[in-house]
Amino acid sequence: MYDLIIIGGGPAGVAAGVYAARKQLKTLLIAKEIGGQSIVSDGIENWIGTPKISGADLASALRAHLDAVKGDFVELALGEQVAALTQDPGGRFAVQTKSGKDFTARTVLISSGASRRKLAIPGAGTFENKGVTYCASCDGPLFAGQDVAVVGGGNAGFESALQLLAYAKSVTLIHRHAELKADAVTVEKARAHPNMRIILHAEPIEIIGEQFVSGLRYTDKSTNESHELSISGIFVEAGVIPNTDFIEGLVELDPVKHVVTDARTGRTSVEGVWAAGDCTDELYHQNNIAAGDAVKAVEDLYLWIKKQ
Ligand SMILES: Cc1cc2nc3c(=O)[nH]c(=O)nc-3n(C[C@H](O)[C@H](O)[C@H](O)COP(=O)(O)OP(=O)(O)OC[C@H]3O[C@@H](n4cnc5c(N)ncnc54)[C@H](O)[C@@H]3O)c2cc1C
Repeated sequence: MYDLIIIGGGPAGVAAGVYAARKQLKTLLIAKEIGGQSIVSDGIENWIGTPKISGADLASALRAHLDAVKGDFVELALGEQVAALTQDPGGRFAVQTKSGKDFTARTVLISSGASRRKLAIPGAGTFENKGVTYCASCDGPLFAGQDVAVVGGGNAGFESALQLLAYAKSVTLIHRHAELKADAVTVEKARAHPNMRIILHAEPIEIIGEQFVSGLRYTDKSTNESHELSISGIFVEAGVIPNTDFIEGLVELDPVKHVVTDARTGRTSVEGVWAAGDCTDELYHQNNIAAGDAVKAVEDLYLWIKKQ
């Protein structure tokens, strides 16, 4: 029986692990890996205390911090995925992993983050990994010297576009709204590049090709006219969906399946369960916020445990 089970190894899960160790809570951190979503990023420029760090280096730093402080208090179950979280009549929590392991705890922190939203238009499934990809830093070099598109005008879309500009002949970013969502600094950096083109208020409608992608059809939402871009790569940055399947039915989720939390404490609708980071209904999803919210949750659950 653990005092605390942390689900997830991104900035939220690791921050919770570090604080749990310092508070000497008997803790198990279960995660597929340490690092989280931004592990694929070329350069993170707003992780406070480091002007620039790659996602891979951030993951190593998070792991090193955990290893330095975990002592006998925090155990790691890496390479594991939680399949279900349930509560017994005595109020204890049981976690089952996909590999068939069972663990129990007095409290749980859900910090399972989010995953990429897939593009849901004809051709997106057929051409996945045949021109359609979800990771610019992983697959960008495969498209050296080619014309490519990025779907999505948020920070992740622009970050991908900036990475791709280093290899591709041209990058066309398609955004469905008339206004961009990304930070002005990132947008300006991309706009300044001669091989960058931005198409606003446009809805992708079909990916075309034979064996591999050869084009992307989209509708100009201002005129309702359809156009076709001749490109061989499509990098999708259409947002993320929270990784909360395994807690459906236990804790309250909002309509898009974020865990509903109390903003002051990270408490969920179930006493004994806290949540932090991108899996929650926190309005802003960023590395620093995920880590900070997890710290807040551990402070709160520590006091809760002491009062039991
Ligand atoms: C390409 C990219 C670039 C980004 N760049 C920046 C940036 O520059 N600055 C910034 O502040 N933010 C950036 N972000 C956003 C940032 O990565 C997230 O806000 C942050 O990672 C959220 O942390 P988290 O710990 O809540 O979740 P995540 O990082 O998503 O981590 C979730 C963890 O839970 C694990 N997990 C998921 N499901 C299960 C399960 N069922 N069982 C066990 N483990 C599970 C995952 O494997 C992972 O370890 C970027 C995101 C992306 C995708």
